[in-house]
Amino acid sequence: MHEISIAESIVQIAETKAREQKARLVQVIKLRLGKFTTIVPEALQFAFEICREGTLSHAARLDIERIPMIVRCAVCDSSTEPMCGVCLICSECGFPLEIISGEELEIEYIEVDSEQEVSQCNQHQNEFQSRPMY
Ligand SMILES: [Zn+2]
Repeated sequence: MHEISIAESIVQIAETKAREQKARLVQVIKLRLGKFTTIVPEALQFAFEICREGTLSHAARLDIERIPMIVRCAVCDSSTEPMCGVCLICSECGFPLEIISGEELEIEYIEVDSEQEVSQCNQHQNEFQSRPMY
């Protein structure tokens, strides 16, 4: 199952970040997931709950933000959210569409419970923002 390996990467990234910040617990993992991926959010949520066992993320919440799929036609320049994700032909002129958004799979941020001062944690935060997973 595809979702298991993704969940494993998410837990691993969170673990690395938590250890860097000497955190005791990972609290929230915020994920941006495009609709034009084959990943099923419910399956990913389920896989995450299995993979997080025995890690610093064992009590973490996985927040999944669904990014709508937006496509653009290079000929008539209309940007739309297609009715079906497989039909990538412009309904206006029949030209193949360019995908603008919907392919995202990235961790937006990770919140950890840290014993350090907040100001010390901030220096690591940017590294993990909008980091593509593949
Ligand atoms: Zn068009």
